[in-house]
Amino acid sequence: MPKGMLIIDKERCKGCGLCIVACPHQVLAFSGELNRSGYNVVHMERPEACVGCGFCALTCPDVAIEVYRERVPA
Ligand code: SF4
Ligand code: SF4
Repeated sequence: MPKGMLIIDKERCKGCGLCIVACPHQVLAFSGELNRSGYNVVHMERPEACVGCGFCALTCPDVAIEVYRERVPA
């Protein structure tokens, strides 16, 4: 399984939770941290489980998530 890593822009996150539902590996959760707009922002609760599939980023209506995937040797 390829390993993934996210950069989540906390100030863009609206705390809608759509990415949490979209992730097939239960990586994401609400952090309990509020951003400047008062939204409970998402973080990687289980970063070791991320495969870099990108479903979370595709689902996010606020384009708050960037996905990076480890290059797998051919
Ligand atoms: S890239 Fe895929 S596995 Fe990683 S957090 Fe997003 S939806 Fe989950
Ligand atoms: S889908 Fe986007 S805006 Fe909604 S909780 Fe996830 S990162 Fe935040």
